[in-house]
Amino acid sequence: MIDIRKLHKSYHTEALSLHVLKGIDLSIEAGEYVSIMGASGSGKSTLLNILGILDTYDSGDYHLNGALIRNLSERQAAQYRNEMIGFVFQSFNLINFKNALENVALPLYYKKVSRKKRNIIAMEHLDRMGLKEWAHHLPNEMSGGQKQRVAIARAMISNPKVILADEPTGALDSKTTEEVMEVLTSLNNEGITTIIVTHERSVADATRRIIHLKDGMIEYETRKENGIHETIPSLNYSSL
Ligand code: ADP
Ligand code: MG
Repeated sequence: MIDIRKLHKSYHTEALSLHVLKGIDLSIEAGEYVSIMGASGSGKSTLLNILGILDTYDSGDYHLNGALIRNLSERQAAQYRNEMIGFVFQSFNLINFKNALENVALPLYYKKVSRKKRNIIAMEHLDRMGLKEWAHHLPNEMSGGQKQRVAIARAMISNPKVILADEPTGALDSKTTEEVMEVLTSLNNEGITTIIVTHERSVADATRRIIHLKDGMIEYETRKENGIHETIPSLNYSSL
């Protein structure tokens, strides 16, 4: 599903350039449940944004579902994103003056789906998130966990193959964190490739594979065996 080879990315500002991703090799198969951990500034969001075609990279290559993602026009990038990817953000990114239903339906508005049809589909997605009764409430009338479930419903409405979540529980308490993780786990159980950036061990432990990022490189990864995460012995440690 995702195949990244020798990926490099720098940010350039007037004063300096910052080498943020330093040769990432990463393959993620369809249906995998993966988290990315690492200290603040290690490049997690940059990597996730590149995976989600929200940002470009400098060298290496990135194939998504077999297609080389490089030098895409804005239109092509948007098309791949729409077909393939659902995003979930730490701060929910809901529109405050639109109710839950309207927020969830918004991607279909851009696809020119009729109002009636998009509201029916949006209601189904809210219902799956246990939020049918909240359809006509504004975001500021909802708890953090509810808002994040609205955001997940919005991400799901285009039937993406991949969910990318950047610290989706970063603004939530531990109880609502569990709620949101149950939702993400159930989506993954339905076959959606799920990739979560997180600081939280409990969140990463719910996934089946943890990628540890350090200073823009993959330091090591672990996979869950019999419910416990174990370091992969085949990794090359010579660069550490
Ligand atoms: P993380 O998500 O792991 O905290 P990021 O990928 O957000 O890390 O950032 C990695 C590094 O790149 C940080 O030092 C950050 O300040 C820098 N950075 C991120 N985005 C930009 C940008 N748009 N312009 C310049 N520097 C950036
Ligand atoms: Mg980040």
